[in-house]
Amino acid sequence: MKRAFCKLLFFLAFGLLMQLGVALVFCLVYVGTWSGGMPTEEEYNLWYDHPLNLPGYLPDYAWRFVSPGFRANIVTTPVVVEPDGQRRIAPRSIDALPAREILFVYSAGWPMRSVNGALRQTAYTPYAASPWAPDAANGPVEKDKAIVISLPEWFDSGHRAIPYGPLFLGTLLNTLFYALLLWLLFFASFAARRALRRKRRLCEMCAYPVGTSPVCTECGARVSGNPGVRVSQPRGE
Ligand SMILES: [Zn+2]
Repeated sequence: MKRAFCKLLFFLAFGLLMQLGVALVFCLVYVGTWSGGMPTEEEYNLWYDHPLNLPGYLPDYAWRFVSPGFRANIVTTPVVVEPDGQRRIAPRSIDALPAREILFVYSAGWPMRSVNGALRQTAYTPYAASPWAPDAANGPVEKDKAIVISLPEWFDSGHRAIPYGPLFLGTLLNTLFYALLLWLLFFASFAARRALRRKRRLCEMCAYPVGTSPVCTECGARVSGNPGVRVSQPRGE
């Protein structure tokens, strides 16, 4: 009983780590599609509902990046920050590329999204930085359950955002998914080993050659391949 419980814990711990690892890989390796345009209703809601929201400003543009295990919604509005810290909408006629307030909302995980987080930057110059994580050179970055890391040059020397706020349902289901996968691998490999030993007339438990005895003469395990012998032999003696 205690052993079964330890086994279960081991599989669940593996599942939890594995699903976090998979989410991290999807954060680092971008293989997906970009699109941009007017914010969708969902993106307006992201903007308004988020703790890092920008009260009083309508977002006017959004980029999205979607891959199987990662999603970024980047919602922006043109804003100028006055010397006294007040923010107002930047008039497009004055500056063709005004600084922007920008909210990056990320989620990651596979098969379900299991972590999310967000970043906000008040003075972001579009096209001057990587579009998937703010560049600190563009202004202060506020963080909500996400960090920004700089990748080494041999990788691609860009920035990546890593969200880490756990989503309950996604974490639970992903953990069970990978725990079950590992259990199936274990189960299949042990079943294959037992079948191979049976075929070679070796003890399934210790691989010692079995003769006609109902139990293994090496370790005492039952020999499933000798059913007839088991019943008749003791009587004949
Ligand atoms: Zn044996």
